[in-house]
Amino acid sequence: MSNETQTPRVPLLSEVPDAAGRFGEFGGAYVPETLVAALEQLIEVYDRVRGEERFWEELRALLTTYVGRPTPLYFAQRLTRHARKGIDRSKGAEIWLKREDLAHTGAHKINNTIGQGLLTKRMGKRRIIAETGAGQHGVASATAAAFLGLECDVYMGSEDVRRQSLNVTRMKMLGANVIEVNSGSRTLKDATNEAMRDWMGSVEHTHYIIGSVVGPHPFPMIVRDFQSIIGRECKGQAIRQFGKLPDAIVACVGGGSNAAGIFYDFVDDKGVKLVGVEAGGRSSDPGQHAAPLSLGSPGILHGSLSYVLQDSNGQTSDVHSCSAGLDYPGVGPEHSFWKDAGRVEYTSATDEEALDAFLLTARSEGIIPALETSHAISHAIKLSQTLPSEERIVVNLSGRGDKDVEEATRLLAKRQG
Ligand SMILES: *Cc1c(COP(=O)(O)O)cnc(C)c1O
Repeated sequence: MSNETQTPRVPLLSEVPDAAGRFGEFGGAYVPETLVAALEQLIEVYDRVRGEERFWEELRALLTTYVGRPTPLYFAQRLTRHARKGIDRSKGAEIWLKREDLAHTGAHKINNTIGQGLLTKRMGKRRIIAETGAGQHGVASATAAAFLGLECDVYMGSEDVRRQSLNVTRMKMLGANVIEVNSGSRTLKDATNEAMRDWMGSVEHTHYIIGSVVGPHPFPMIVRDFQSIIGRECKGQAIRQFGKLPDAIVACVGGGSNAAGIFYDFVDDKGVKLVGVEAGGRSSDPGQHAAPLSLGSPGILHGSLSYVLQDSNGQTSDVHSCSAGLDYPGVGPEHSFWKDAGRVEYTSATDEEALDAFLLTARSEGIIPALETSHAISHAIKLSQTLPSEERIVVNLSGRGDKDVEEATRLLAKRQG
């Protein structure tokens, strides 16, 4: 049979983005002229590095010796028992946790900052900047900067500075400069605007380490690639520990990097159910949640086309979540692609549900999860109750909750008061 008469091969879902940074219709690079050259330089460097075994070996060695990978895949027996209480015996799938909270600095963010830190060195730049919400990306950036000998400025909304004071202190201790942002809602979106503004005037010597799978091409691809270590490890661990792939994987979605990191290696395995959990906040009323995939519409935010929470004039809406890391009106373009392709199901958990899951995990497993992660745990318990007891759900435990104990205490006191 000649080539021409063969049916064209249907591309795999993992074979994105294209050269223009498109995930289906989503993604791209909607940026001012001043950033085009910087993005092109980054595309060129990353294209070269992608095929370089030496780069990935250096990264692999650091992820092992410095970050502490691989992180365990752990059976949460008591959470599972809790999910099985009072339901039909045949239901109640096992809940397993992929322990990214045990990675150095306490969350998955370090997988990306070490990778992009090495890229910064390759480009011969001496300074990094970052935006941060919960402060975890700021801490991970400050850590990579200290370790690699780079200058580091972190932009953070003043509302988040208040909610996450422990992480602010950690960043300063690590030698980074924390720049408080007082514009807009004083959270992650505003910090991202300021970081982009800085980068426009500093690209020559500065690299902007975006903390999630958002922003203009090539960032969503680069961050996904660095985070995909989570899913690759998880697949190997599942095969060794279960003898097969997981039946479902659940992850919380802010910008979407921990979810993309654990989903990516499974998107072409159609038998594995993938669920992303957004911040349902106080209600589904405008301004009371941060769930763009569940309640938003396609639009442009921070340089790429994706689902966004916006009003009828295309103005970005205010958002709310009890967790600073999910408090963002946009989401990575690859998630929009997966949503419209019907590959990943997106749902949400409310502040109250997340707080319940936070306490439950602390008291039943002895693991204090991040409030972000608690959204995923909350949904995993519900999902377990609908699936056969012999099936297995993996929750990406994206980070530890030490940073959240003060905020959780405040919310619990309010609930009682
Ligand atoms: C930053 C953060 C998130 C949200 O970001 P994603 O890019 O959606 O992963 C979730 N969990 C933790 C612990 C975080 O620090």
